[in-house]
Amino acid sequence: MISFPTTLHGLYINGQWSSGRDHLRVINPATEALLTTVNGGDEQAVDQAISAACEAFKDWSKTTGAERGAILRNIANGVRNGRDHLTRLQSSNNGKPLFEAAIDVDDVIATFEYYAELAEGLDAQQDRAVALPSDDFSARLRREPCGVVGLIVPWNFPMVTTAWKLAPALAAGCCVVLKPSEVTPLSELELAAIIAESGLPKGVFNLVCGTGLAVGAPLAADPRIAKISFTGSNAVGVQVMQRAAETVKGVSLELGGKSSLLVLEDADIELAVELACGGGFFNAGQMCSATSRVLVADELADEFLERLQKRAQAIRVADPFDPDVEMGALVNQAQYQRVLGHIDRGLSAGAKLVCGGNRPAHLPRGYFLQPTVFTQVPLDSALWCEEIFGPVLCVRSFSSEAEAIALANDSQFGLVASVVTRNAETADRVANALHAGLVWLNAPQVIFPQAAWGGYKQSSLGRELGPWGLQAFQEIKHVIRAH
Ligand code: NAD
Repeated sequence: MISFPTTLHGLYINGQWSSGRDHLRVINPATEALLTTVNGGDEQAVDQAISAACEAFKDWSKTTGAERGAILRNIANGVRNGRDHLTRLQSSNNGKPLFEAAIDVDDVIATFEYYAELAEGLDAQQDRAVALPSDDFSARLRREPCGVVGLIVPWNFPMVTTAWKLAPALAAGCCVVLKPSEVTPLSELELAAIIAESGLPKGVFNLVCGTGLAVGAPLAADPRIAKISFTGSNAVGVQVMQRAAETVKGVSLELGGKSSLLVLEDADIELAVELACGGGFFNAGQMCSATSRVLVADELADEFLERLQKRAQAIRVADPFDPDVEMGALVNQAQYQRVLGHIDRGLSAGAKLVCGGNRPAHLPRGYFLQPTVFTQVPLDSALWCEEIFGPVLCVRSFSSEAEAIALANDSQFGLVASVVTRNAETADRVANALHAGLVWLNAPQVIFPQAAWGGYKQSSLGRELGPWGLQAFQEIKHVIRAH
């Protein structure tokens, strides 16, 4: 366990740490104990952070990609050197097992290194000639940083969602005001301490901890912010977009999901059960990409459900620091009650509980929940249609490939999907028919910084990661000259 000072500064503005007036209580979800208090900011702190970022932008926007890449590599190395501490912080504040938190930290390192490489490649592309259908004119293309950007992130993968925005924003030459989740600010505070030692000029990166209303809302509204990149719930995403609209700022949104795992008739059942558990119970199901709808071919349905029940009941729910833990705690009381409410409403709607649904008997304290599986879930119930964001799977059988695809696509969301089949042609055909931004075929939910993240419909606006994540923070300028 890590010991914390009683209070932590919640503001890092213009290269200086300070405290705001808002006392944010930071809880360990596995014990319900207070870890520390973070002194977060308000509209005034947001104003100061944006002013610092605007001032820093004058020089930072003129740096070369190579200079920015070198600093991103320093940040990646700082995270690597602090890997163990960051892993423990993430588990303490979020409730996820240490092995999952370590995956988060490695993802952060890989993301900063990837965008360092892209930043280093920018200089050679700058001012490239653009072919025109005329000898009277010539043109060159510039990609310039879009300005000072606001980054707002949630609590489920705090450091990761931050890195996916922060690394490309810095690579592009933007200056940043970051608002972490008030529920899980600790890893971002540590990341800020690493960035403070990375050689990044003061004011380029600013952090303002605080609540959505005190910090997120003024950040989204401020006319000096060129772009808001937001990850979180749909309800808040819509509010952010509305505020941003008033000053026509760019918006990227990564929102909710209701994704499916499709188990086709020729699937390897054992693999399908493993992928169902990974897609439903990793991070205690608190994933926008949770494949919480499991669609199984009629021929396999009984055997699959039996094996899934056995596997789900065997999952070791425990303290995140327990060496044998497989699933940790949910993030806080509000989320715990929300998921229990969904389970109750599912039962009232007539869904059949296969296993789970309660607190594990051996864990009287902490926000722990048994891995939960439902079947016979009505198609119009909240359990089937809404994002649960907890360790809850809904299993349903289908009689044809077309029915499976229709069931998977019947959602306001379209983030990801997984398909299990032994037939490569079928896998590709089904992947092409699914309305989702990322489809895994016989694979766990692996994520690479090189591949895009984001979805169709109400799951996303834009894409993160890959070159698309960088372009999201760039303006395009053409310069046309007459000869
Ligand atoms: P949330 O929407 O409650 O909060 C997200 C962030 O927005 C927090 O920092 C919060 O303080 C801030 N915020 C709250 N009100 C605000 C306002 N009025 N203006 C500006 N900012 C405000 O989401 P959460 O509960 O922290 O996270 C869970 C949600 O995030 C889920 O819906 C999940 O699907 C989504 N999510 C999506 C992705 C993705 O990549 N698509 C990834 C992770 C999480």
